Amino acid sequence: MKNINWKNVLLYIAAILLVGSLLAPLVSPPVKIPELSFSEFLNQLDTNNIKEVAIQGENISGKLKTGKEFKTRASDYPNLVPTLRDKKVNFKIEAPSESGWFWNLIIQVVAPLAFFALLWWLLMRQAQSSNAQAMSFGRSRAKPVITKQKITFKDVAGVDEAKEELKEIVEFLKTPEKFQALGARIPKGLLLVGAPGTGKTLLARAIAGEAAVPFFSISGSDFVEMFVGVGAGRVRSLFQEAKKQTPCIIFMDEIDAVGRHRGAGLGGGHDEREQTLNQLLVEMDGFDPKTNIIIIAATNRPDILDPALLRPGRFDRQVFLDKPDLKGREEILIIHSAGKPLGSDADIKILARRTPGFTGADLENLMNEAAILAARADKKEINMIELEEAVDRVLAGPEKKSRVISDNEKEIVAFHEVGHALLSKLLPKADPVHKISILPRGLALGYTLQLPLEDKHLISKEEALQDICVLMGGRVAEEMIFNEATSGAQNDLERATALAKKMVCEYGMSTLGPRTFGKKEHQIFLGRDIAEMKDYSDQTADAIDKEVQKIIEGCYNRAKTLLGQNRAKMEEIAKALREKETLVGEELEALLKDIHV
Ligand code: ADP
Ligand code: MG
Ligand code: ZN
Repeated sequence: MKNINWKNVLLYIAAILLVGSLLAPLVSPPVKIPELSFSEFLNQLDTNNIKEVAIQGENISGKLKTGKEFKTRASDYPNLVPTLRDKKVNFKIEAPSESGWFWNLIIQVVAPLAFFALLWWLLMRQAQSSNAQAMSFGRSRAKPVITKQKITFKDVAGVDEAKEELKEIVEFLKTPEKFQALGARIPKGLLLVGAPGTGKTLLARAIAGEAAVPFFSISGSDFVEMFVGVGAGRVRSLFQEAKKQTPCIIFMDEIDAVGRHRGAGLGGGHDEREQTLNQLLVEMDGFDPKTNIIIIAATNRPDILDPALLRPGRFDRQVFLDKPDLKGREEILIIHSAGKPLGSDADIKILARRTPGFTGADLENLMNEAAILAARADKKEINMIELEEAVDRVLAGPEKKSRVISDNEKEIVAFHEVGHALLSKLLPKADPVHKISILPRGLALGYTLQLPLEDKHLISKEEALQDICVLMGGRVAEEMIFNEATSGAQNDLERATALAKKMVCEYGMSTLGPRTFGKKEHQIFLGRDIAEMKDYSDQTADAIDKEVQKIIEGCYNRAKTLLGQNRAKMEEIAKALREKETLVGEELEALLKDIHV
């Protein structure tokens, strides 16, 4: 509040006075004088009880001979005056009261007017304040970031290529002359692309820490507002602000929120997001290449971005952040174990080997879970047990100790898991089994943890087939021992079918030849691919189904043969699993020895 708004104050006072004067007669009514009915009055008059009377229009007031006051009303009673004269009552006629018409006027005219005026004024005030809010919406929320804990490139591991690329950018901002002397044009925009949790936001914060220039950070969702045009206004003001503080970096996180293909989405046309995107494109083209502003954006869906954004001169460089490899995972684990006392048996190298496919965020989560588990056990340091348990937790959720499972079901689950485990040992190209457990975890009743020895980027046909065999192992074992199928294999079957379908339709690994079938269609407004475009005939569809069927059946039979040859072993391991509930490492290795391959 800068200064008092006198107009408002006056309005308040007027309103209070008005309401007060309207309420006043109600709050303090005039002294109560008993009211007589007119007939009662006439009776009193007949019996000579009235001493004096004053007539004021319809209102009659007076005194009885007893001295009591009274009042009554009469409407047009012509005999009143003669009767009063007859009875020798002292009477006088007064002019109708001034206050009467005054109050009438207020109640009938002024009050409603005042009421509407008040209402109008309130509404106006409301509108004005929300207007002011809408206006401030248009301003950008990006502020140069002042981070308390400075994040540097040292805090980011496993994404070396991306780091190199970004270091170059920082270099340019620090010494632009060096690049310009050689006629180099540094990219205007740089797009960080990577799966969720691979460290895009972290990397951007590291640049902010390293570059020593103003760093404007805004998230794509900040631009998408209820009101059309607000997002565009924000983009405009963000760039205005940035231009005042060059050299600087603008970071837009989750740019897919605004940067989707134009013309997509329900209703199509010119919606808010589209306007925002247009404004962004205009601004990116608008600034002089010599202005040292670099725009960094992050997304995990580059495929849905509007092609105009990716054109040279805009986000012309894309930097990919992969899930970390073995070495990267080790480095990330070391970063996140800082400040967490590790026991002497904790081996980060082994842990890194056991976590293929984990992103940086998963690894951070893992270290945190392990620390929580250790604290819960009142330990002073984190041991390998907690780290192992944390891996399982991140992969499959916490153990459900409370879930009660009957002995019969446990027996089935044990054989099911042993089926998977034995097959993964029997089939050399399948990922080796690391742990089996019949303790329910997450949604699963049992749990077989298979881990590849190294990061895989390619999958061969034989590997795919052996993976499907291992998935079939659970069901096959159940059927062999109990002569019955259970619903426990549902997830296995789903995954096996999906993989078989991929082999046929995407990898070209079937008798239908090396080609793909069907095209994924991105439903942009939903942000995921839900429709599959069929680019083949119904006959081919039939053939595909048959091929998938053939693969699954083949794997099923192979699993059956292999497990059949090792039935005794299967029963031995299942017995051990029933007793111990979890089998890991050497113990499991010992049991899986001398099997019939
Ligand atoms: P994204 O933005 O790609 O979804 P974030 O940058 O938000 O992922 O990562 C989430 C957290 O995961 C980070 O705060 C960090 O603790 C951890 N993290 C992710 N990637 C890495 C990495 N490469 N090195 C170290 N920590 C990482
Ligand atoms: Mg992020
Ligand atoms: Zn299974």
